[in-house]
Amino acid sequence: MTTAARLTTAQPFVNTPLPGPRSAELLERQELRESNARVYPRHFPIAVAEAQGSYIRDLDGNLFIDFLAGAGVLSFGHNHPELVEAAVQQMSVFTHGLDMASPAKDAFTEAQLSMLPQQMRDLMKIQFCGPTGANAVDAAVKLAKTATGRGDIIAFRGGFHGSTHAAMALTGNLSQKAPVANGMPGVHFFPYPCGGEPDGVDAATWDATCAGLLEKALTDPNGGIPRPAAVIMEMVQGEGGVNPATPRFAQRVRRLTRQLGIPLIIDEVQTGCGRTGTWFAFEQYDIEPDIIVASKALSGIGLPVAIIMYRRDLDVWAPGAHTGTFRGNQLAFAAGAKAVEMVRRDDLLGNVRARGEQIARALEPLSVHPAVREVRGRGLMWGVELNPPGDGRTASQLADEVQARALRAGLILELGGRDDCVVRMLPPLNVTAEVVDIALTIMIRAIDDTFRQQVLAA
Ligand code: PMP
Repeated sequence: MTTAARLTTAQPFVNTPLPGPRSAELLERQELRESNARVYPRHFPIAVAEAQGSYIRDLDGNLFIDFLAGAGVLSFGHNHPELVEAAVQQMSVFTHGLDMASPAKDAFTEAQLSMLPQQMRDLMKIQFCGPTGANAVDAAVKLAKTATGRGDIIAFRGGFHGSTHAAMALTGNLSQKAPVANGMPGVHFFPYPCGGEPDGVDAATWDATCAGLLEKALTDPNGGIPRPAAVIMEMVQGEGGVNPATPRFAQRVRRLTRQLGIPLIIDEVQTGCGRTGTWFAFEQYDIEPDIIVASKALSGIGLPVAIIMYRRDLDVWAPGAHTGTFRGNQLAFAAGAKAVEMVRRDDLLGNVRARGEQIARALEPLSVHPAVREVRGRGLMWGVELNPPGDGRTASQLADEVQARALRAGLILELGGRDDCVVRMLPPLNVTAEVVDIALTIMIRAIDDTFRQQVLAA
Protein backbone atom coordinates (compact mmCIF):
# COMPACT_ATOMS: atom_id res chain seq x y z
CA MET A 1 0.00 0.00 0.00
CA THR A 2 2.77 2.41 0.79
CA THR A 3 4.33 2.28 -2.67
CA ALA A 4 1.24 1.67 -4.77
CA ALA A 5 -1.13 4.39 -5.95
CA ARG A 6 -3.48 5.47 -3.21
CA LEU A 7 -6.14 2.87 -2.56
CA THR A 8 -9.57 4.40 -3.07
CA THR A 9 -11.76 1.48 -4.11
CA ALA A 10 -11.07 -2.23 -3.85
CA GLN A 11 -12.91 -5.38 -2.96
CA PRO A 12 -11.65 -6.42 0.48
CA PHE A 13 -10.45 -10.00 0.93
CA VAL A 14 -9.53 -12.37 3.73
CA ASN A 15 -7.39 -15.30 2.64
CA THR A 16 -6.40 -16.76 6.01
CA PRO A 17 -8.26 -17.86 9.09
CA LEU A 18 -8.56 -14.96 11.56
CA PRO A 19 -6.17 -14.34 13.09
CA GLY A 20 -3.72 -15.33 10.37
CA PRO A 21 -0.42 -16.81 11.57
CA ARG A 22 1.60 -13.56 11.63
CA SER A 23 -1.17 -11.63 13.35
CA ALA A 24 -1.62 -14.48 15.84
CA GLU A 25 2.00 -14.15 16.91
CA LEU A 26 1.57 -10.46 17.80
CA LEU A 27 -1.79 -10.99 19.43
CA GLU A 28 -0.29 -13.67 21.69
CA ARG A 29 2.52 -11.33 22.72
CA GLN A 30 -0.01 -8.59 23.28
CA GLU A 31 -2.15 -10.80 25.48
CA LEU A 32 0.87 -11.78 27.58
CA ARG A 33 2.11 -8.24 28.09
CA GLU A 34 -0.83 -5.85 27.84
CA SER A 35 -3.63 -5.09 30.23
CA ASN A 36 -6.82 -7.07 30.40
CA ALA A 37 -8.65 -3.81 29.64
CA ARG A 38 -7.70 -4.01 25.95
CA VAL A 39 -10.84 -4.28 23.87
CA TYR A 40 -10.57 -3.96 20.09
CA PRO A 41 -8.18 -6.91 19.56
CA ARG A 42 -10.85 -9.10 21.12
CA HIS A 43 -13.32 -8.10 18.38
CA PHE A 44 -10.79 -7.71 15.60
CA PRO A 45 -8.20 -10.50 15.90
CA ILE A 46 -5.77 -8.97 13.45
CA ALA A 47 -2.46 -7.10 13.71
CA VAL A 48 -2.36 -4.06 11.46
CA ALA A 49 0.51 -3.81 8.98
CA GLU A 50 -0.60 -0.62 7.26
CA ALA A 51 -3.62 1.47 6.45
CA GLN A 52 -4.71 3.91 3.79
CA GLY A 53 -7.96 5.80 3.19
CA SER A 54 -10.87 3.54 4.09
CA TYR A 55 -8.68 0.41 4.14
CA ILE A 56 -6.52 -1.56 6.58
CA ARG A 57 -4.18 -4.40 5.68
CA ASP A 58 -3.22 -6.94 8.31
CA LEU A 59 0.16 -8.65 8.71
CA ASP A 60 -1.12 -11.69 6.84
CA GLY A 61 -2.01 -9.66 3.75
CA ASN A 62 -5.78 -9.57 4.32
CA LEU A 63 -7.46 -6.35 3.22
CA PHE A 64 -10.34 -4.83 5.21
CA ILE A 65 -12.67 -1.88 4.75
CA ASP A 66 -12.41 0.07 7.99
CA PHE A 67 -15.83 1.41 9.00
CA LEU A 68 -14.65 2.03 12.54
CA ALA A 69 -12.14 4.69 11.37
CA GLY A 70 -10.40 4.98 14.74
CA ALA A 71 -13.79 5.21 16.51
CA GLY A 72 -14.83 8.14 14.34
CA VAL A 73 -11.48 9.91 14.43
CA LEU A 74 -10.27 9.60 10.84
CA SER A 75 -12.56 11.96 8.95
CA PHE A 76 -10.28 11.82 5.91
CA GLY A 77 -9.47 8.13 6.33
CA HIS A 78 -6.06 6.74 7.24
CA ASN A 79 -2.97 8.86 6.49
CA HIS A 80 -4.50 11.34 4.07
CA PRO A 81 -1.44 12.64 2.17
CA GLU A 82 -2.29 16.32 2.55
CA LEU A 83 -2.76 15.95 6.30
CA VAL A 84 0.41 13.88 6.57
CA GLU A 85 2.25 16.63 4.75
CA ALA A 86 0.85 19.34 7.04
CA ALA A 87 1.89 17.37 10.15
CA VAL A 88 5.31 16.40 8.81
CA GLN A 89 6.13 19.97 7.84
CA GLN A 90 5.13 21.17 11.29
CA MET A 91 7.20 18.46 12.98
CA SER A 92 10.53 20.07 12.19
CA VAL A 93 9.25 23.55 13.07
CA PHE A 94 7.67 23.16 16.52
CA THR A 95 6.10 19.99 17.91
CA HIS A 96 5.11 20.28 21.56
CA GLY A 97 3.94 23.57 22.98
CA LEU A 98 2.06 23.27 26.30
CA ASP A 99 -0.44 26.12 25.95
CA MET A 100 1.98 28.62 24.48
CA ALA A 101 0.94 30.74 21.50
CA SER A 102 2.17 29.64 18.07
CA PRO A 103 1.16 30.21 14.44
CA ALA A 104 -0.03 26.60 14.16
CA LYS A 105 -2.24 27.00 17.22
CA ASP A 106 -3.51 30.37 16.05
CA ALA A 107 -4.51 28.93 12.66
CA PHE A 108 -6.21 25.97 14.33
CA THR A 109 -8.11 28.24 16.74
CA GLU A 110 -9.21 30.48 13.88
CA ALA A 111 -10.34 27.41 11.92
CA GLN A 112 -12.36 25.95 14.81
CA LEU A 113 -14.08 29.22 15.73
CA SER A 114 -14.88 29.84 12.06
CA MET A 115 -16.84 26.58 11.94
CA LEU A 116 -19.25 27.70 14.66
CA PRO A 117 -22.62 29.03 13.53
CA GLN A 118 -22.13 32.70 12.60
CA GLN A 119 -24.06 34.14 15.54
CA MET A 120 -21.92 32.18 18.04
CA ARG A 121 -18.47 33.00 16.66
CA ASP A 122 -17.76 36.12 18.63
CA LEU A 123 -19.44 34.85 21.77
CA MET A 124 -17.26 31.81 22.41
CA LYS A 125 -13.85 31.16 23.88
CA ILE A 126 -11.79 28.08 23.24
CA GLN A 127 -9.83 26.04 25.75
CA PHE A 128 -7.24 23.41 24.93
CA CYS A 129 -7.59 20.40 27.20
CA GLY A 130 -5.61 17.23 27.73
CA PRO A 131 -5.73 15.43 24.41
CA THR A 132 -8.74 13.15 24.93
CA GLY A 133 -12.47 13.58 24.76
CA ALA A 134 -12.81 12.47 28.37
CA ASN A 135 -10.36 15.10 29.57
CA ALA A 136 -12.36 17.78 27.77
CA VAL A 137 -15.59 16.45 29.31
CA ASP A 138 -13.91 16.76 32.73
CA ALA A 139 -12.92 20.33 31.87
CA ALA A 140 -16.47 21.20 30.79
CA VAL A 141 -17.95 19.88 34.01
CA LYS A 142 -15.31 21.59 36.17
CA LEU A 143 -15.92 24.88 34.36
CA ALA A 144 -19.69 24.64 34.88
CA LYS A 145 -19.18 23.83 38.57
CA THR A 146 -16.75 26.72 38.98
CA ALA A 147 -18.99 29.20 37.14
CA THR A 148 -22.20 28.28 38.97
CA GLY A 149 -20.79 27.31 42.35
CA ARG A 150 -23.09 24.28 42.22
CA GLY A 151 -22.15 20.61 42.37
CA ASP A 152 -24.75 18.37 40.76
CA ILE A 153 -24.83 17.30 37.12
CA ILE A 154 -27.69 15.94 35.01
CA ALA A 155 -26.70 13.29 32.47
CA PHE A 156 -28.79 10.96 30.33
CA ARG A 157 -29.40 7.26 30.26
CA GLY A 158 -27.56 5.63 27.39
CA GLY A 159 -25.03 8.47 27.15
CA PHE A 160 -21.27 7.97 26.96
CA HIS A 161 -18.73 10.60 27.93
CA GLY A 162 -15.41 8.76 28.37
CA SER A 163 -13.33 6.66 30.70
CA THR A 164 -11.80 9.07 33.19
CA HIS A 165 -13.28 8.71 36.63
CA ALA A 166 -15.58 11.74 36.20
CA ALA A 167 -16.54 11.11 32.57
CA MET A 168 -17.37 7.53 33.44
CA ALA A 169 -19.57 8.71 36.29
CA LEU A 170 -21.56 10.71 33.70
CA THR A 171 -21.93 7.69 31.44
CA GLY A 172 -25.34 6.05 31.50
CA ASN A 173 -24.58 3.18 29.17
CA LEU A 174 -23.53 0.44 31.59
CA SER A 175 -22.30 -1.90 28.87
CA GLN A 176 -19.59 0.70 28.13
CA LYS A 177 -18.34 1.08 31.70
CA ALA A 178 -17.14 -1.34 34.31
CA PRO A 179 -18.74 -0.21 37.57
CA VAL A 180 -16.21 1.44 39.85
CA ALA A 181 -17.02 2.03 43.49
CA ASN A 182 -17.21 5.63 44.76
CA GLY A 183 -17.66 7.30 41.39
CA MET A 184 -18.09 11.08 41.19
CA PRO A 185 -21.12 11.92 43.35
CA GLY A 186 -24.00 14.21 42.41
CA VAL A 187 -24.79 12.77 38.97
CA HIS A 188 -28.49 12.29 38.21
CA PHE A 189 -29.54 10.26 35.18
CA PHE A 190 -32.68 11.12 33.27
CA PRO A 191 -34.30 9.17 30.44
CA TYR A 192 -33.25 10.04 26.91
CA PRO A 193 -35.94 9.74 24.26
CA CYS A 194 -34.71 6.86 22.19
CA GLY A 195 -36.08 3.51 23.29
CA GLY A 196 -36.19 2.40 26.90
CA GLU A 197 -39.73 3.62 27.52
CA PRO A 198 -41.48 1.84 30.40
CA ASP A 199 -44.32 -0.59 29.64
CA GLY A 200 -47.53 1.27 28.89
CA VAL A 201 -45.79 4.49 27.81
CA ASP A 202 -46.48 5.52 24.25
CA ALA A 203 -43.23 5.43 22.23
CA ALA A 204 -44.45 8.28 19.99
CA THR A 205 -44.77 10.70 22.89
CA TRP A 206 -41.88 9.34 24.98
CA ASP A 207 -39.74 12.38 24.14
CA ALA A 208 -42.38 14.68 25.64
CA THR A 209 -42.50 12.49 28.74
CA CYS A 210 -38.69 12.57 29.05
CA ALA A 211 -38.64 16.36 28.78
CA GLY A 212 -41.54 16.63 31.23
CA LEU A 213 -39.81 14.42 33.80
CA LEU A 214 -36.71 16.61 33.69
CA GLU A 215 -38.74 19.83 33.83
CA LYS A 216 -40.69 18.63 36.85
CA ALA A 217 -37.61 17.34 38.67
CA LEU A 218 -35.90 20.71 38.34
CA THR A 219 -38.88 22.99 38.99
CA ASP A 220 -41.09 21.08 41.43
CA PRO A 221 -40.16 21.67 45.11
CA ASN A 222 -40.75 17.94 45.48
CA GLY A 223 -38.20 17.19 42.71
CA GLY A 224 -35.47 16.14 45.13
CA ILE A 225 -32.58 17.50 43.06
CA PRO A 226 -30.74 20.73 43.85
CA ARG A 227 -30.31 23.08 40.89
CA PRO A 228 -27.46 21.46 38.97
CA ALA A 229 -24.22 22.97 37.71
CA ALA A 230 -24.84 21.59 34.22
CA VAL A 231 -26.83 19.32 31.97
CA ILE A 232 -24.63 17.26 29.65
CA MET A 233 -25.96 15.50 26.58
CA GLU A 234 -25.09 14.11 23.17
CA MET A 235 -27.31 15.09 20.24
CA VAL A 236 -26.86 11.58 18.87
CA GLN A 237 -25.69 9.07 21.45
CA GLY A 238 -22.89 7.19 19.72
CA GLU A 239 -21.66 4.46 22.03
CA GLY A 240 -25.23 4.30 23.33
CA GLY A 241 -26.25 2.81 20.00
CA VAL A 242 -26.74 5.73 17.59
CA ASN A 243 -29.69 7.31 19.38
CA PRO A 244 -30.59 10.72 17.96
CA ALA A 245 -32.42 13.09 20.31
CA THR A 246 -35.70 14.35 18.90
CA PRO A 247 -35.72 18.10 18.15
CA ARG A 248 -38.72 18.52 20.46
CA PHE A 249 -36.78 17.02 23.38
CA ALA A 250 -33.56 18.92 22.70
CA GLN A 251 -35.41 22.22 22.42
CA ARG A 252 -37.28 21.68 25.68
CA VAL A 253 -34.01 20.83 27.45
CA ARG A 254 -32.46 24.00 26.04
CA ARG A 255 -35.45 26.14 27.06
CA LEU A 256 -35.48 24.72 30.59
CA THR A 257 -31.75 25.05 31.18
CA ARG A 258 -31.80 28.62 29.89
CA GLN A 259 -34.75 29.55 32.11
CA LEU A 260 -33.03 28.09 35.16
CA GLY A 261 -29.54 29.41 34.39
CA ILE A 262 -28.04 25.93 34.00
CA PRO A 263 -25.16 25.66 31.49
CA LEU A 264 -25.96 23.14 28.77
CA ILE A 265 -22.92 21.09 27.77
CA ILE A 266 -23.23 19.41 24.38
CA ASP A 267 -20.74 16.57 23.99
CA GLU A 268 -19.83 16.63 20.28
CA VAL A 269 -16.78 14.40 20.71
CA GLN A 270 -18.26 11.83 18.34
CA THR A 271 -20.88 13.84 16.46
CA GLY A 272 -18.65 16.87 15.81
CA CYS A 273 -16.44 17.79 12.85
CA GLY A 274 -19.08 16.92 10.29
CA ARG A 275 -19.97 13.38 11.33
CA THR A 276 -23.75 13.96 11.17
CA GLY A 277 -23.78 16.15 8.05
CA THR A 278 -23.40 19.56 9.72
CA TRP A 279 -20.16 20.61 11.43
CA PHE A 280 -21.84 20.21 14.80
CA ALA A 281 -24.90 18.04 15.32
CA PHE A 282 -26.59 20.69 17.49
CA GLU A 283 -26.97 22.87 14.37
CA GLN A 284 -29.70 20.49 13.18
CA TYR A 285 -31.67 21.06 16.37
CA ASP A 286 -31.86 24.84 16.26
CA ILE A 287 -30.29 25.17 19.71
CA GLU A 288 -27.13 26.84 20.98
CA PRO A 289 -25.12 25.13 23.72
CA ASP A 290 -23.28 27.04 26.44
CA ILE A 291 -20.33 24.65 26.35
CA ILE A 292 -19.28 22.44 23.42
CA VAL A 293 -16.90 19.50 23.85
CA ALA A 294 -14.98 18.36 20.76
CA SER A 295 -12.09 16.00 20.16
CA LYS A 296 -11.89 12.84 18.03
CA ALA A 297 -11.85 14.17 14.43
CA LEU A 298 -10.41 17.63 15.11
CA SER A 299 -7.08 16.83 13.45
CA GLY A 300 -8.72 14.68 10.75
CA ILE A 301 -5.88 12.18 10.90
CA GLY A 302 -5.93 10.84 14.44
CA LEU A 303 -3.40 13.14 16.08
CA PRO A 304 -4.83 13.73 19.54
CA VAL A 305 -6.34 17.08 20.46
CA ALA A 306 -9.37 18.07 22.54
CA ILE A 307 -11.11 21.37 23.17
CA ILE A 308 -14.06 22.96 24.85
CA MET A 309 -15.67 26.08 23.47
CA TYR A 310 -17.85 28.09 25.80
CA ARG A 311 -19.73 31.34 26.28
CA ARG A 312 -17.34 34.14 27.21
CA ASP A 313 -19.15 34.96 30.44
CA LEU A 314 -18.41 31.42 31.69
CA ASP A 315 -14.68 32.11 31.55
CA VAL A 316 -14.20 32.22 35.29
CA TRP A 317 -11.17 29.93 35.40
CA ALA A 318 -8.18 30.94 37.47
CA PRO A 319 -4.88 30.62 35.58
CA GLY A 320 -3.87 26.97 35.66
CA ALA A 321 -7.35 25.74 36.59
CA HIS A 322 -7.21 23.04 33.94
CA THR A 323 -3.62 22.27 33.00
CA GLY A 324 -2.20 19.26 31.19
CA THR A 325 1.21 18.62 29.63
CA PHE A 326 -0.18 17.50 26.30
CA ARG A 327 -2.42 20.44 25.43
CA GLY A 328 -0.14 21.79 22.74
CA ASN A 329 0.10 19.17 20.01
CA GLN A 330 1.29 21.37 17.16
CA LEU A 331 1.10 18.50 14.67
CA ALA A 332 -2.58 18.08 15.44
CA PHE A 333 -3.06 21.84 15.09
CA ALA A 334 -1.35 21.94 11.70
CA ALA A 335 -3.31 18.93 10.40
CA GLY A 336 -6.55 20.24 11.96
CA ALA A 337 -6.31 23.66 10.29
CA LYS A 338 -5.58 21.94 6.98
CA ALA A 339 -8.52 19.58 7.56
CA VAL A 340 -10.93 22.50 7.95
CA GLU A 341 -9.60 24.01 4.72
CA MET A 342 -10.20 20.66 2.98
CA VAL A 343 -13.69 20.30 4.47
CA ARG A 344 -14.64 23.55 2.71
CA ARG A 345 -12.66 22.95 -0.49
CA ASP A 346 -13.95 19.38 -1.00
CA ASP A 347 -17.50 20.00 0.30
CA LEU A 348 -16.95 17.20 2.78
CA LEU A 349 -20.28 17.88 4.49
CA GLY A 350 -22.00 17.46 1.13
CA ASN A 351 -20.37 14.03 0.82
CA VAL A 352 -21.47 13.10 4.37
CA ARG A 353 -25.06 13.99 3.52
CA ALA A 354 -25.02 12.22 0.13
CA ARG A 355 -23.42 9.05 1.53
CA GLY A 356 -25.82 9.22 4.47
CA GLU A 357 -28.77 9.23 2.08
CA GLN A 358 -27.21 6.34 0.18
CA ILE A 359 -26.91 4.35 3.42
CA ALA A 360 -30.46 5.25 4.49
CA ARG A 361 -31.82 3.95 1.16
CA ALA A 362 -29.75 0.76 1.27
CA LEU A 363 -30.69 -0.03 4.87
CA GLU A 364 -34.38 0.76 4.45
CA PRO A 365 -35.32 -2.87 3.64
CA LEU A 366 -33.60 -3.98 6.87
CA SER A 367 -36.19 -2.17 8.97
CA VAL A 368 -38.65 -5.02 8.27
CA HIS A 369 -36.06 -7.79 8.61
CA PRO A 370 -36.96 -10.16 11.47
CA ALA A 371 -33.42 -9.86 12.88
CA VAL A 372 -33.66 -6.08 13.07
CA ARG A 373 -35.39 -3.96 15.69
CA GLU A 374 -34.54 -0.55 14.28
CA VAL A 375 -32.22 1.23 11.84
CA ARG A 376 -31.02 4.65 13.00
CA GLY A 377 -28.56 7.17 11.69
CA ARG A 378 -27.54 10.69 10.80
CA GLY A 379 -24.92 11.58 8.19
CA LEU A 380 -22.20 8.94 8.46
CA MET A 381 -23.12 7.59 11.86
CA TRP A 382 -25.38 4.55 11.56
CA GLY A 383 -26.63 1.76 13.77
CA VAL A 384 -28.71 -1.35 13.19
CA GLU A 385 -30.26 -2.55 16.43
CA LEU A 386 -30.80 -6.29 16.38
CA ASN A 387 -33.62 -8.38 17.81
CA PRO A 388 -33.21 -11.54 19.86
CA PRO A 389 -33.57 -14.18 17.13
CA GLY A 390 -36.05 -16.29 19.12
CA ASP A 391 -33.79 -19.35 19.50
CA GLY A 392 -32.72 -18.56 23.05
CA ARG A 393 -29.80 -16.37 22.04
CA THR A 394 -29.65 -12.70 22.84
CA ALA A 395 -29.51 -9.75 20.46
CA SER A 396 -25.98 -9.03 21.66
CA GLN A 397 -24.85 -12.56 20.77
CA LEU A 398 -26.34 -12.04 17.34
CA ALA A 399 -24.51 -8.68 17.03
CA ASP A 400 -21.22 -10.30 18.06
CA GLU A 401 -21.63 -12.91 15.37
CA VAL A 402 -22.57 -10.30 12.74
CA GLN A 403 -19.43 -8.36 13.62
CA ALA A 404 -17.25 -11.48 13.37
CA ARG A 405 -18.88 -12.57 10.12
CA ALA A 406 -18.43 -9.12 8.56
CA LEU A 407 -14.77 -9.17 9.58
CA ARG A 408 -14.29 -12.54 7.90
CA ALA A 409 -15.76 -10.96 4.75
CA GLY A 410 -13.38 -8.01 5.06
CA LEU A 411 -15.38 -5.31 6.86
CA ILE A 412 -14.60 -3.76 10.24
CA LEU A 413 -17.77 -2.72 12.08
CA GLU A 414 -18.31 -1.42 15.61
CA LEU A 415 -20.94 -2.43 18.18
CA GLY A 416 -22.73 -0.27 20.73
CA GLY A 417 -26.01 0.28 22.52
CA ARG A 418 -27.77 -1.71 25.21
CA ASP A 419 -25.62 -4.81 25.81
CA ASP A 420 -23.83 -4.05 22.54
CA CYS A 421 -26.77 -5.15 20.42
CA VAL A 422 -26.39 -2.38 17.82
CA VAL A 423 -24.12 -2.92 14.81
CA ARG A 424 -22.55 0.45 14.06
CA MET A 425 -20.81 2.13 11.13
CA LEU A 426 -18.52 5.17 11.40
CA PRO A 427 -16.89 5.42 7.95
CA PRO A 428 -14.37 8.09 7.04
CA LEU A 429 -16.29 11.22 5.98
CA ASN A 430 -14.66 11.24 2.54
CA VAL A 431 -15.70 7.64 1.83
CA THR A 432 -16.76 7.03 -1.77
CA ALA A 433 -20.13 5.73 -2.97
CA GLU A 434 -18.40 2.61 -4.29
CA VAL A 435 -16.80 1.71 -0.96
CA VAL A 436 -20.11 2.33 0.84
CA ASP A 437 -21.82 -0.04 -1.62
CA ILE A 438 -19.25 -2.79 -1.05
CA ALA A 439 -19.42 -2.40 2.73
CA LEU A 440 -23.22 -2.34 2.89
CA THR A 441 -23.45 -5.50 0.80
CA ILE A 442 -21.12 -7.24 3.27
CA MET A 443 -22.98 -5.92 6.32
CA ILE A 444 -26.47 -6.78 5.09
CA ARG A 445 -25.31 -10.25 4.09
CA ALA A 446 -23.66 -10.74 7.50
CA ILE A 447 -26.91 -9.87 9.29
CA ASP A 448 -28.99 -12.05 7.01
CA ASP A 449 -26.66 -15.07 7.12
CA THR A 450 -26.25 -14.87 10.89
CA PHE A 451 -30.00 -14.73 11.36
CA ARG A 452 -30.73 -17.52 8.87
CA GLN A 453 -28.11 -19.78 10.39
CA GLN A 454 -29.64 -19.32 13.81
CA VAL A 455 -33.18 -19.77 12.57
CA LEU A 456 -32.14 -22.94 10.72
CA ALA A 457 -30.35 -24.20 13.80
CA ALA A 458 -33.33 -23.43 16.08
N1 PMP B 1 -17.73 11.61 24.53
C1 PMP B 1 -18.25 10.89 23.52
C2 PMP B 1 -19.60 11.25 22.98
C3 PMP B 1 -17.54 9.83 22.96
O1 PMP B 1 -18.08 9.11 21.98
C4 PMP B 1 -16.26 9.52 23.47
C5 PMP B 1 -15.42 8.39 22.90
N2 PMP B 1 -16.09 7.36 22.31
C6 PMP B 1 -15.75 10.30 24.53
C7 PMP B 1 -16.52 11.34 25.02
C8 PMP B 1 -14.41 10.02 25.12
O2 PMP B 1 -13.40 10.35 24.24
P1 PMP B 1 -11.91 9.76 24.50
O3 PMP B 1 -12.00 8.30 24.24
O4 PMP B 1 -11.06 10.49 23.53
O5 PMP B 1 -11.60 10.07 25.90
